[in-house]
Amino acid sequence: MSAMTVMIDPEQAWAAVLARDRASDGRFVTGVLSTGIYCRPSCAARHPARGNVRFFANGAEARAAGLRPCRRCRPDDLARDEMAVVAALAAIREAEGPPVLADLAARAGYSPAHFQRLFTRHTGLSPAAYARALRAERAAAALSAEPSVADAIYAAGYSAPSRFYEGTRGRLGMAPSAWARGGEGVAIRWAVVPTSLGALLVAATDKGVCRVAFGESESELASRFPKAALTAGDEDFAALVAEVVAVVEEPGRGSALPLDVRGTLFQEKVWQALRAIPPGETCSYAELAAAAGHPGASRAAGSANGANPVAVLIPCHRVLRANGDIGGYAWGEAIKRELLRREKGSQ
Ligand SMILES: [Zn+2]
Repeated sequence: MSAMTVMIDPEQAWAAVLARDRASDGRFVTGVLSTGIYCRPSCAARHPARGNVRFFANGAEARAAGLRPCRRCRPDDLARDEMAVVAALAAIREAEGPPVLADLAARAGYSPAHFQRLFTRHTGLSPAAYARALRAERAAAALSAEPSVADAIYAAGYSAPSRFYEGTRGRLGMAPSAWARGGEGVAIRWAVVPTSLGALLVAATDKGVCRVAFGESESELASRFPKAALTAGDEDFAALVAEVVAVVEEPGRGSALPLDVRGTLFQEKVWQALRAIPPGETCSYAELAAAAGHPGASRAAGSANGANPVAVLIPCHRVLRANGDIGGYAWGEAIKRELLRREKGSQ
């Protein structure tokens, strides 16, 4: 889902350079006209003066402009690192058993410790954790006729798995609870609290947050879960509510709150894909559909996006029309615009 960030925004790029942001490595290189070299954004060398800097999409473009690679951060080695990670991802996927770190590292020509760090930096998971996640996805997929999320995400592009798993650290609850039966036998605590974006309903089961919605009341919650036992939240619940409010106030901060949401398999894939979009970034409905493993299903992805039961925690506000128009939002365009503005501002 990084295809939409090919355009380099110089201000954002410069901010990434100043922060020595490793996550930006590979997205662009920093050309320094005064010294004739180009660097990774995270280069540890002293920062050049802003006026001497020009950003390039990659090393090839920088070389075409007459620059040569920095000897310290070796920006062109990034390609080698990426190749090593891609090869390891493929090896893990093809292997029968758990991956052997030493083998993966040897194949890439790195020490095991270095390779473990490299892999983790690129994918958000250690090789062993990636293999475990893959097995879990495959087990789940075996129960349905649809391709696994991991396969689909992987097919959607190399950069996607890292984003995907980064976004699922606070995994969807997906409890086999009784959502289909109107919440029968489920206890739900709820509260309506003020935020700077208006009143917010927060509701949760004992497994996780099941509803976050602007301007919604208890009666609307009750019609959504007609058979659940609804209780107004007590003081214990206030801590959870406070965390949800904090994320609304500062949507770029992310949250590890567990969720307990149910949808169709397709909707859940879309919601997982949404959680993989980093704060401050957006994607189109078509990109969302592809990330959910169903390229071409952008209209359906749009509906699944609109059916998101937990505002902000599943960031459905990060999807725009392909032409950059704001697109719809279940809780109104103004709130969507403001959430996006806050994320941009916090970068
Ligand atoms: Zn450098």
